[in-house]
Amino acid sequence: MAGKPDTLVRRQHTHLLLPSAALDDPQRTLFESALRPAGWTADPDDSSSMSLRWNRRQAALRLQTLGWFPLLVTVGAIGKATSAHRDAAARLTAAVVAGGGKSLTDRELVEYLPQAQARWQRALLERRRTATAERLLEARRCSYCASWSGMSATHCAGCRRRFTTADDAEHEATISRASATLDEAAAILADLARGVTLDRLSGASHG
Ligand SMILES: [Zn+2]
Repeated sequence: MAGKPDTLVRRQHTHLLLPSAALDDPQRTLFESALRPAGWTADPDDSSSMSLRWNRRQAALRLQTLGWFPLLVTVGAIGKATSAHRDAAARLTAAVVAGGGKSLTDRELVEYLPQAQARWQRALLERRRTATAERLLEARRCSYCASWSGMSATHCAGCRRRFTTADDAEHEATISRASATLDEAAAILADLARGVTLDRLSGASHG
């Protein structure tokens, strides 16, 4: 954890990096647990998948998602920042750091944003690989007419040709490759969510 303690700097926004892919239930619970003891309540009207809002008397606080893999959020007061907002930011920061995340200064955020973009693009690539591999595990493709048939089909749904022993062997090899791709993509997505740097990810970044 580099940098000065955040409590010494009265920043308008607090940027937090969490070792998770997105703003899911565990992260929402983490934030809720940090803020509820200080009297903040989640805004029931705010059901966004990208942001959260809490209220405490007249004060309001917004948390906005800036990036995924890992989750990057920024927290700030809606309206004028008060000591209650700074206390809330400190509580959120402590909870995130305790959970293996960290806070970023404004400068670190600016430096990190291009990487956040690259990480999201890599995650999309791995999701596409996953979708393609899943398709190959749900259906078999004819090497002659390229039609898709059921996994247990004995004849091609397109050209009605009977699958040969050679077709079956190729199909087995395809299943094996698709399974390996699924495992690799899942491992890379988990590494991305944990914050492993792009150049240290396993596997090649092919499509
Ligand atoms: Zn066919």
